[in-house]
Amino acid sequence: MGSLPAHTTPADARKILENRAREAGFDLVGVTGAEPLEEGGERLREWQEAGMAADMGYMQRPVGLLSNPKKLQKSARSVVSLGVSYYPGEHPENPGGGRVARYAWGRDYHEIIKERLYRLRRELEQELGTRIKARAFTDAVPLLERSAAQKAGLGFFGRNSCLINGEIGSYFFIADLIVDLHLPPDPPGTGTCGRCTRCMDRCPTGAIQAPGVVDARRCISYLTIENRGEIPRHLRPLVGDWAFGCDICQEVCPYNKTKASRSPWPEFGAASGAGPYLEIEEVLEIRTDEEFEKRFAGTPLTRPGREGLLRNCCVSAGNLGLRELVPALARCLREDPSPLVRGHAAWALGEIGGDAAIKVLRGGAEDDAWCLREIEAALRNADRSASVG
Ligand code: SF4
Repeated sequence: MGSLPAHTTPADARKILENRAREAGFDLVGVTGAEPLEEGGERLREWQEAGMAADMGYMQRPVGLLSNPKKLQKSARSVVSLGVSYYPGEHPENPGGGRVARYAWGRDYHEIIKERLYRLRRELEQELGTRIKARAFTDAVPLLERSAAQKAGLGFFGRNSCLINGEIGSYFFIADLIVDLHLPPDPPGTGTCGRCTRCMDRCPTGAIQAPGVVDARRCISYLTIENRGEIPRHLRPLVGDWAFGCDICQEVCPYNKTKASRSPWPEFGAASGAGPYLEIEEVLEIRTDEEFEKRFAGTPLTRPGREGLLRNCCVSAGNLGLRELVPALARCLREDPSPLVRGHAAWALGEIGGDAAIKVLRGGAEDDAWCLREIEAALRNADRSASVG
């Protein structure tokens, strides 16, 4: 087990950690012990039992595993929680694109942050003059990272279930170093939403079922990123122009309105990745996984895969009513190898309506049963709009 040299107290080590972490670009630094996260575990159990984890397998793992840092590293004595602001600014007015959640405008944060975490560990080892056994990660291991971060003082849970920090709001990534050193723990994060209910009132799909309880099955972030199947038809109109994730419950939060300031990490800025909007037509033309990887490698947008991202772009196109995209949607409906994409392309054509879209919907040679049902529903929709119009 790691131990500090005789001349260094845990408080000295904590101070050194704070200084080095800030130099490395982390905005928030906190420490908690490596004991099980009981409160977070209890909340997770209730959420899982209510079926709100949808089909996210990693969130359905046993509570005892997800809430115990020692399951990740046996020798763990402290969890160092770090926060990195990713706020890249506000979305400009939509030029007719698929909207991207702010955390995904730039490069994929996983590798970038992990590299800095290991560098931080090396610097600590050098300065403290001891070897540190550590596990470094961000959002990629089975642990309730938000609960650990709350316990380490990084913020409090808002009604939108995000961790909110009184100084920087909630647009931040959480990263962790589980270490075998004893460091003095920080007091847990405190704060309150007061009487505010904006996120609950403004969530387009009503996903926030109760304060702090988000039903993934209705959450646009889940539906457009983790979900591998269709976006349920009744929810598609509510997804709006979001093609990857959703920020609404953070966007409306008064803490972000007054506290969020641009991340100093250039990697998370719009210039480093996909930016605030996807060009829908360009995405709809991607037919193979290889092309998709080439186009989005190194960004978070690879997460839903080619089919998922094209599915989402079809929904954005339909909700934006983009008539100029009828030819691209027609090509998807005729040529895309994935029934998931073809079915959502049909839905978008039904939403857009008009003679050209109806002609495409009537003229196909589809043989997938689900797609045929989507085409029928789209035609009913388009015909209805035509008769109302
Ligand atoms: Fe809390 Fe209001 Fe922010 Fe929701 S929008 S997390 S209720 S402060």
